[in-house]
Amino acid sequence: MAPYTGEETEGTSRHLQLKQNLGKIMNLLAKNETISKGTLENALSLCAPGTRESLEAVLCGKELFFEQGLHLATAEGADLQALVAVADHLRRETVGQAVTYVVNRNINFTNVCFVGCSFCGFGRGPQAADAYSLSFEEVVRRAQEAWDCGATEVCIQGGLRRDLDGFFYRDLLRAIKRVLPAMHVHAFSPMEIDYGVLKTGLPLRDYLQMMKDEGLGSIPGTAAEVLDDHIRRQLSPNKLPVARWVEVITTAHELRIPTTSTMMYGHVEEPADWVRHLLLLRSIQKRTGGFTEFVPLGFIHQNTRLYKHGGARPGAMRDEHLRVHALSRVLLHGAICNVQVSWVKLGIETSLACLQAGGNDFGGTLMEENISKAAGATFGEYVSPEEFRAYVRKIGRVPAERSTTYKIRRTFERPEDDPPPAPPALRFAPSEAHIAYTEGAY
Ligand code: SF4
Repeated sequence: MAPYTGEETEGTSRHLQLKQNLGKIMNLLAKNETISKGTLENALSLCAPGTRESLEAVLCGKELFFEQGLHLATAEGADLQALVAVADHLRRETVGQAVTYVVNRNINFTNVCFVGCSFCGFGRGPQAADAYSLSFEEVVRRAQEAWDCGATEVCIQGGLRRDLDGFFYRDLLRAIKRVLPAMHVHAFSPMEIDYGVLKTGLPLRDYLQMMKDEGLGSIPGTAAEVLDDHIRRQLSPNKLPVARWVEVITTAHELRIPTTSTMMYGHVEEPADWVRHLLLLRSIQKRTGGFTEFVPLGFIHQNTRLYKHGGARPGAMRDEHLRVHALSRVLLHGAICNVQVSWVKLGIETSLACLQAGGNDFGGTLMEENISKAAGATFGEYVSPEEFRAYVRKIGRVPAERSTTYKIRRTFERPEDDPPPAPPALRFAPSEAHIAYTEGAY
């Protein structure tokens, strides 16, 4: 079959064939069905030569460079469908048919924060009527509740208080690990780590070693937003610069503290920024191997200053979500194996589509997600393991519970393998009357 030249005109048989194929892929995505190998070949045969060349290169195991990435980052129509189909193929090749999830709980211990990120609907001044800070006892109580409900991880992040004691993060970690030594504590963004370093005066390496010795299991790769200082100045001039984010992350990796990696998209950034961001993460991973996953975080705009006054786009639409997830899979191929969909940001239906565009991980059950709801996300606070498994089966994949570091705890090949559904015994500690942390948990 001759390649698509982009010159077909409406009404020609070539044009009709193209339309039919695109329709087929869109229908598969709409119905959450898997893209077959034949569809992949067909998609490749119909896209523009430059797109096909880049996608064939990655299928042959080559790393793509910036210009190729940028070309894919702006893919539309047949090119986008080919990108999605190749990303789905690479996902299958890399991690198979499992869609993993972790049973966890988010605990955002305070919303008092002086940093003032313009995309954040969560942070409050200390005098705000809905400002709150949880005691150590309350954080431990929530962690215990989560453990009793089968959680293996607590994800702990919060705002930055000016009056924070230098060893607050260490002491909070210590309090949890004293009661729940086997609970994986995934905690403290690079921004919080940097703040802890500033407050204690310890060298970064010593600070991180201390946290590891106290039981810190891994670090969320949040506070990354877009790893470009020009954009960071627009989003959050008080936030740590790119070089410091990289230094915190790579030092953690050197000490064998794994981290996740994230990117917030859909605001003031452009496709070239996604590509630079992803290539930077890829280069870090090749050096350290410390990233467990990459999590694209769609910007939730509703309650944010960045949208109201900062000229940001109102988040991404469905095609852009698919493009970012597929691009991530393609550019990170051979480096970062896991691409997570953030159901809190995307909602379930778009998450399922992104799981067929390169994604392989559903993230955490979360139990009271206190972060995205602050910025206006409306996708709920908790998805039970039973619901996750049903969603995963809906797209013909195999649900599997994992640990934070992607060790498979249990694969649920058939519905008969599932444990009997157990409604969460959580009484969900009275949620503060405020809205929650913006960046996302991971
Ligand atoms: S995103 Fe985090 S650091 Fe920024 S204002 Fe919100 S709570 Fe503070």
